[in-house]
Amino acid sequence: MYGVVRVLVYTAGPAQLRGLAGLVAALGASEAFALTPGREDEVAQHAYGVFNRVYRVDAERLTPGQLAELLEGLYAEHQPDLVVGPAVKDGVDAGSRLAARQSLPMFTEAVSVELFDGGLRVRRQVLGGRAMAVLESGLPALVTVKPQLWEEKAPSETGAEISTVKPPAALVEEESWEPKKREAVDLESAEVVVGVGRGFRRKEDLAMAEELARLLGGVVGASRPIVADYGWLSEDRWIGISGKKIRPKLYIAIGISGTPQHMAATMDSKVIVAINKDKNAPIFQYADYGVVADLYKFLPVLIEKLKEKLGK
Ligand SMILES: Cc1cc2nc3c(=O)[nH]c(=O)nc-3n(C[C@H](O)[C@H](O)[C@H](O)COP(=O)(O)OP(=O)(O)OC[C@H]3O[C@@H](n4cnc5c(N)ncnc54)[C@H](O)[C@@H]3O)c2cc1C
Repeated sequence: MYGVVRVLVYTAGPAQLRGLAGLVAALGASEAFALTPGREDEVAQHAYGVFNRVYRVDAERLTPGQLAELLEGLYAEHQPDLVVGPAVKDGVDAGSRLAARQSLPMFTEAVSVELFDGGLRVRRQVLGGRAMAVLESGLPALVTVKPQLWEEKAPSETGAEISTVKPPAALVEEESWEPKKREAVDLESAEVVVGVGRGFRRKEDLAMAEELARLLGGVVGASRPIVADYGWLSEDRWIGISGKKIRPKLYIAIGISGTPQHMAATMDSKVIVAINKDKNAPIFQYADYGVVADLYKFLPVLIEKLKEKLGK
């Protein structure tokens, strides 16, 4: 561990302070400051004692430009060795602006962060999660991480001093802001996932997958084309490097070819079953059980058999 280190943390919302405080604690930072937008009560709940001071911006949300402007002020004031932000879109956007203006080396989506004498070492997944890159730089540097990775290490006591700052004027006026409409599907914690791919010819045919998922107590997920190209299912169902990572006990992939961009997000599944009419489909290299069949012939039979067996 590195002796004296000053860390500046920023977030897109106070809940992210939990994991980032965990990282600060794990790094053994000698001084730490945090910048977050949010309501007074929410920020107080997440003002962990590991921070010397939490700067609360009096706004529910900030644009990346506003966040970067505030960060620059704090960077000049505290001269941190390390700046840490959340690996979310606005967090990376704001971080890139600060890194560019201060000529800082920047690493995104680090899964581990270590300090050694005078330097920073991070690990991040590359090649769709198939390999891990180990990268080093001098300090100061900027890194973005998924805060959840350090939540377990978060200190329990709060009570850091909180200073309230005004948000700077935004260059772009936000007229309205609505959260995306989501279906109530929790792919990431589902124990059984039935994945659908381009082997399905029509949206209505997905009813077979829904029925299978219902019988097994699971949920339906999809490959990218089903969500992004055809719009048959919402983004919550998207499995892959650009969508959700799943770790079910059972993943049944139907009419999915098994490209690395899809499979990288399914490798923590306990058992993978693939149903595909092409015996050379790459998915069979990853599957524990493979069924070479036309899904339109196989699924109705499977569903009937399961109904009989389960009495549903
Ligand atoms: C930067 C980047 C990021 C990406 N991110 C993702 C991502 O996050 N998630 C993702 O899924 N993809 C992602 N992709 C796309 C990915 O490369 C593939 O194009 C996509 O996963 C293919 O989807 P698919 O398997 O449904 O379709 P296809 O590759 O077209 O496969 C369809 C399969 O269905 C089988 N089939 C056809 N008819 C039947 C039938 N009647 N019965 C049984 N089987 C049948 C075929 O044999 C074939 O294997 C990304 C691509 C890029 C470049």
